[in-house]
Amino acid sequence: MFSLVRKVIKPSVYLQRFGTERCIGSVVQHLKLKESELKNEPVLSYEKNSKERKELEDNLKKLSSKCEEVPIYIGDKEYKTNDIRHQVMPHKHSHKLAKFYYADIKLINKAIETAVETQKKWDRTTIEERLRIWDKAADLMAGPYRQELNAATMLGQSKTVIQAEIDSAAELIDFIRMNAYFLKECTKYQPISENIKVTKNSLRYRGIDGFIAAVSPFNFTAIGGNLAYTPALMGNAVLWKPSDTAVLSNWVIFKIMLEAGVPPGVVNFLPADGPVFGDTITKSPDFAGLNFTGSVPTFNRLWRQVGENINIYKNFPRLIGECGGKNFHFVHPTADSETVVTATIRSAFEFCGQKCSACSRMYVPETLWPKIKSGLIEKQKTLKIGDVSDLTSFTSAVIDDKAFARITSYIEHAKKSSNLEIIAGGNYSDKIGYYIDPTIVVTKDPLDKIMREEIFGPVLTIYVYKDSDLKKAINLVNTSTQFALTGAVFAQDESFLRQALEEFKMAAGNFYINDKSTGSVVGQQPFGGGRMSGTNDKAGGPHYILRWTSPQSIKETFVPLRDIDYPYMR
Ligand code: NAD
Repeated sequence: MFSLVRKVIKPSVYLQRFGTERCIGSVVQHLKLKESELKNEPVLSYEKNSKERKELEDNLKKLSSKCEEVPIYIGDKEYKTNDIRHQVMPHKHSHKLAKFYYADIKLINKAIETAVETQKKWDRTTIEERLRIWDKAADLMAGPYRQELNAATMLGQSKTVIQAEIDSAAELIDFIRMNAYFLKECTKYQPISENIKVTKNSLRYRGIDGFIAAVSPFNFTAIGGNLAYTPALMGNAVLWKPSDTAVLSNWVIFKIMLEAGVPPGVVNFLPADGPVFGDTITKSPDFAGLNFTGSVPTFNRLWRQVGENINIYKNFPRLIGECGGKNFHFVHPTADSETVVTATIRSAFEFCGQKCSACSRMYVPETLWPKIKSGLIEKQKTLKIGDVSDLTSFTSAVIDDKAFARITSYIEHAKKSSNLEIIAGGNYSDKIGYYIDPTIVVTKDPLDKIMREEIFGPVLTIYVYKDSDLKKAINLVNTSTQFALTGAVFAQDESFLRQALEEFKMAAGNFYINDKSTGSVVGQQPFGGGRMSGTNDKAGGPHYILRWTSPQSIKETFVPLRDIDYPYMR
C-alpha cells in the first residue's frame, strides 16, 4: 500500500490517504516552548498581602461555603447514580466538601464503549493540535484556575499552601507542559533513509486501539492529571478513576482540560468503587493499558486479574504501576548533623508523611546520635499541626479514618513493644479531624515491622548503629524491605559517597546525596522506584510518554519493483 511513486503524490492527497496526521517524516513545529525556554513553573511565595495569597483566600472561602456536585462524565454527558458519596475535609471531617456518585458496572462499560469509539478519531488529530490544547491547558492552570486547584487540594486533601502549590500548581503544570515538549522532541527522530530518491522510512506515534484506565491516588493532585492526560496526549482514550479522597481537585483538572479543548470522550471521569472498577476494566477485550499509582496490594490484584484474562485482550495491556515505599535516610559518621535533622523533619513530616517518598526509617551512627536526637526532638516541638486555612500550620490531618486507624496502630505497637521507644509525639485524636502528632520512634530491632512496612503517615523510626558496623547497617538498608523507591545518604566523606552510589544502587529509584528523600521535580528528577515500589517508568522524564504509544514504522518506495531474482543468480 505504501509502494507509491513519489511524484504522483501531492501533499493534499498524501494527507487524505493517511488521515490528518502530519508528522510523518517531518518535525512538529508548534508549541511555544523551545529547549532554551524549558523551565519549571515558578513556585509562588504566598507572603502576606501578596496577590496570590488574596486569590487563594477567596477560593478557600468559596469552596468552603458549598458542597460541590461532582458528576460522572462520559463522552459529553453527565451522569448521577443512587450510590452517593461525599468527600470531607480531613482536618474537619464534619464538613462535606463535595458530593459525588459511584459509577456502576453499566456506566463503566458505557465509558469503555465511548472511549474505544473516541480513540479512533482522537488518534487522527494532529500532534500539533494536541500540543496547542496542552499549551492552553497549562496556561489556564498557571493563570485563572491556579488558586481553585490549590484551594481544592488544600481543603480536600489537607495540604498546606506550600504543599498544594508544589503539587496542584507547579507539578501539574510541569507535567502538562513538559510531556507536550517531550512529545514534540521525540517526533524529531526519524529512521535512516539511505537514498531518499528510492525509499523513505518514517515513524509515527500512534495511540493504542482500545482504552487506557488511569487509577490515581489521593496524595498528589498532579499525579491524577499526569496518569489520565499523558496517555491522552499520545492519542489514547482514557477512563479516569480518581481516588474518593481527591475527587474535587481531580474534577477541577478535568473541567480545565475540557475548556482547553480536549474533546469529550477522550478522558472520561468515573469516580467508582475501586474493586468494581478494577474488575470491570480488566474483563474488557479492549483494555489496552493501566496507568496506576497507589499501593502494592491494589496493583498486585490488578496485575493478577490481567494475567487471568490475558487470552481475551486485543492488545497485550501495558501495565504501569508506581507503588509504595519504605524510604530511608542513611547517615554516615562524617555527616553534617544539622542538615540531617532539617532534611529528616521535612521529609518525614511534611504532608503528614503521606508522600510516597517520605522518609520512614533512618540509620544513624552512635557517635552522631546524641546531637541528631536532640535536634530532632527540639525541631519536632516547633511543628504546628492544624487547619490548612491557617497559613502558619506546618502540617494538618491525615487523609481519612482508614489511614488514621492504620497509622495509629503502629504508634500503639511502639508503645507496647519493649524494643521500641517513642522519643517525640505519639498522641493523636480524630475528634475534629484525623490529627496525628509527628512521631519519632527509636528501635533496638532493625527488623521490627515498623522498620519494614509502609506506614504512610507521620511516623519516623530510627535505628542507631555502631560506627564499626557500617557495613552491616548498609546491608540492612538493602535487605529489610520489599521496596526501593527513594533513599538519601548524608556524608562529607567523598570516598564514602562514591561507595554509597554502588552500595545503594538497587535500594532506590530516586537517590539523594546530602538532601532529603522527597521533593522530586518534573524534568529535574524523573520519578519512580524499583523492586515492589513499581515499574519505574520515570514520570516527569522524557521516556515516560513512550509507554503510551504504539509507534508505526513506514517504508515508502518510489521506484517500480521488477526483479524477483538477485544479481548473483544471473
Ligand atoms: P490505594 O492503592 O488505596 O488506591 C489507589 C487507587 O486505587 C485509588 O483510586 C483506589 O480507589 C483505587 N483502587 C483500590 N482498589 C482497587 C481495585 N481493586 N481496582 C482498581 N482500583 C482500585 O492507594 P492510596 O491510599 O490512594 O495511595 C497511597 C499509596 O500510593 C501509597 O502506597 C503510596 O506510596 C503510593 N504512591 C506511590 C507513588 C509513586 O510514584 N511511587 C506516588 C504516590 C502514591
